Amino acid sequence: MSLSWFHENLSRFSGELRWDEPLSRHTYYRIGGPARVLAIPKSIDDLKFLAEGIRQTGLRSFVLGLGSNLLVSDSGFDGLVIKTGRVDFSISVQPDGVTQLRTGAGVAISTLLRRAAQEGWGGLEFLTGVPGSVGGAVFMNAGTHLGEAKDRLRAVEAFVFSQDQVIRFERDELRFEYRRNFFLPADAIVTAAEWFIDPVSPDEVKLRIDQTLFRRKATQPVDYPSCGSVFKNPRERGLNAWQVVDQVGLRGHRIGDAQFAEKHSNFIINLGSARAEDVKQLIDLAKERARSQLGVELEEEVRFVGFE
Ligand SMILES: Cc1cc2nc3c(=O)[nH]c(=O)nc-3n(C[C@H](O)[C@H](O)[C@H](O)COP(=O)(O)OP(=O)(O)OC[C@H]3O[C@@H](n4cnc5c(N)ncnc54)[C@H](O)[C@@H]3O)c2cc1C
Repeated sequence: MSLSWFHENLSRFSGELRWDEPLSRHTYYRIGGPARVLAIPKSIDDLKFLAEGIRQTGLRSFVLGLGSNLLVSDSGFDGLVIKTGRVDFSISVQPDGVTQLRTGAGVAISTLLRRAAQEGWGGLEFLTGVPGSVGGAVFMNAGTHLGEAKDRLRAVEAFVFSQDQVIRFERDELRFEYRRNFFLPADAIVTAAEWFIDPVSPDEVKLRIDQTLFRRKATQPVDYPSCGSVFKNPRERGLNAWQVVDQVGLRGHRIGDAQFAEKHSNFIINLGSARAEDVKQLIDLAKERARSQLGVELEEEVRFVGFE
């Protein structure tokens, strides 16, 4: 598989291409081997260029947001990783003025919430503490006990590689379940999202965000790299995933530099130089014990890259 097409046509790309880029630089875990090519597109035309590149080279591709929900293998990803942060990072209030907001997929949730607190855009506080991008939040239907992305999304725009264009999905076309969507085609990159917001006082939004952040800092190991919750809460017997990890005796359990956090046992933290293999072994151990000791099937919330 030749990458020469990218070299030969580079002048048509306004973004950035990096060869053999360590993905540990792009994941919250600080874990992950190199991507054969990492592309950081800046426009829809750049996405069209990458779509053509994939057709010409046959490269596999993977979409990277801010890397806060990913475990990338130690051998990396033998293909094209498309980092979406710079395609669109605009935030604008829609023409009706007060109740609709448009955000580019590259906007960090923390930036969005900071603006919400300045402008008095209520309704998005449920995303407090979710460290990813708008694109990742839409793809994952990110949420907390206060709500999920699906509750507030009005429309989603996505570039679909096989159609070579941006498709708009209206609210009645959006389909989500717990931490997943099932309306986006497999070859889609979310480029923007529109949200319903409630006009409230900036102070009120700020207070709600601060209170939630305070609670999260008290209950989550935010001082170490992690991907947040490793497992989805299982449906069986109303157990939370952290309770399952506790009941099979794995709170604090460590393999290499990866550890089920003492502070929150559904978090696996990187104590310094954890490898993806260490994290994966902890995940497999918890799944095996949950199945054999409790008859519970744990399903990962974290997404694996490069393990096939
Ligand atoms: C400390 C910590 C706390 C967390 N707390 C929460 C929480 O409370 N609730 C919660 O839901 N999550 C939580 N997470 C997980 C994570 O932040 C969310 O899943 C987030 O939405 C991922 O966004 P991202 O941009 O980092 O996506 P990535 O991690 O980069 O990618 C996640 C998935 O989304 C896809 N994706 C990303 N961007 C796009 C795009 N533009 N178009 C198409 N697909 C895309 C990727 O291909 C991948 O499959 C936490 C993570 C950490 C580290």
